Amino acid sequence: MPLENHEKACFLLHRSLVEGISLEDRHWLDAHVGQCAECGWYADLSARAVRALDWFALELDPAAALRVENVVRSRAEGMRSAEAHAKSLWIGTAVAIFLTFTGSAVTWRSLVWLASQWNLPSRVWQIVFAAFWLLPSLLLAFLPLFRSRLLGEDSESNGQTV
Ligand SMILES: [Zn+2]
Repeated sequence: MPLENHEKACFLLHRSLVEGISLEDRHWLDAHVGQCAECGWYADLSARAVRALDWFALELDPAAALRVENVVRSRAEGMRSAEAHAKSLWIGTAVAIFLTFTGSAVTWRSLVWLASQWNLPSRVWQIVFAAFWLLPSLLLAFLPLFRSRLLGEDSESNGQTV
């Protein structure tokens, strides 16, 4: 078989896989591939390669892509707002602790004066001060940080599933 026939078969085979060929060329190619073992093997190999490439070329469902994008976007937004929320909680706690100690210092002085006026033993008014002023103030100052844990909220996932 002349070499030009194999080259023509190869050329037509490539064109048929990419853009298609005329009916006349299709008949000629099928006849040649049927007679020529080398071109038949090459045609089979090419067809299998194209099928394999088709298998890899996933067509993305636009609705699914949009859903994935929205989930990623809302998750990022949630993480950003959780970060800002945690930061504001820490700042609030720091301010509350500062106010607790400032208020405690003022209250301490007042109690020292009051205890000297009423001749109270220092142990008594110090315990009263710790139990009814310092302890509740500190508990209230730290409460926002442990609020979610006390309420049983899962701050990591916010109950969402992806
Ligand atoms: Zn051939």
